[in-house]
Amino acid sequence: MDTSRRKFLKIAGCSVALIGGKPVFEALTNDLAAAEPVSLGQALKGGRWAMVVDLRKCMEKPDCNVCADACHKVHNVPTIDDPQEEVKWIWKEKFENAFAEESTEYLKESLKNKPTLVFCNHCDNPPCVRVCPTQSTWKREDGIVMMDMHRCIGCRYCIVACPYGSRSFNFSDPRKKLKKEDVNLSFPTRSKGVVEKCNFCAERLARGQKPKCVESCPEKAMYFGDLRDPNSEVRRLIQENFTIRRKPGLGTNPHIFYIV
Ligand code: SF4
Repeated sequence: MDTSRRKFLKIAGCSVALIGGKPVFEALTNDLAAAEPVSLGQALKGGRWAMVVDLRKCMEKPDCNVCADACHKVHNVPTIDDPQEEVKWIWKEKFENAFAEESTEYLKESLKNKPTLVFCNHCDNPPCVRVCPTQSTWKREDGIVMMDMHRCIGCRYCIVACPYGSRSFNFSDPRKKLKKEDVNLSFPTRSKGVVEKCNFCAERLARGQKPKCVESCPEKAMYFGDLRDPNSEVRRLIQENFTIRRKPGLGTNPHIFYIV
């Protein structure tokens, strides 16, 4: 039996055994982490994970989409051309939309329309979690706002509650949009009718790897680390640079910091 088939059967068996128990997604990723070769290293552990995006570097390449492509590939997010139905974990918005509170009619024209990287803010006080009737979304102790797509009933309360538009709904069957050969067997695919979003690459952290977007950014404009660690790079960057966050006035306490 080849490795991918064995891995697939392990995933399937694990899903059946765990339905009704602890969140299936978390159990799955834990299991996969254990199944990875030992050379991949220890799980990354943090007190409070956060991301810093250096917009000065990122905006140098307005057409660059490497991080989003890499993220979507590894998480089996299909490309859907219809904007009404598209599913996205990380994407670009015009600066004036991403940072409406920072934008005035006098904002530099060149900045106004600049594509700005956005994704789930892994808020400390996430409204999406509060409204979910099935606890399919929850905040971990290390700050990651998780999503168990197997538990989601598709009510979309979380989509309404998120003030950042960070969640997508699968209006159509995403499996039908993925080419068989492109499917990453180490991450679950989803079905029609469920919500999904960025998970700070929880499955990769469990294998000792940084988020895929951070790893793949050719400009090295993204940083991920533990804010509670005074020696972490994210702490240093936030201390040494002026950073902004999206809609801080809402009290959600987002944990994506942007150097401008
Ligand atoms: Fe929830 Fe939206 Fe905050 Fe992410 S950005 S934690 S989806 S409210």
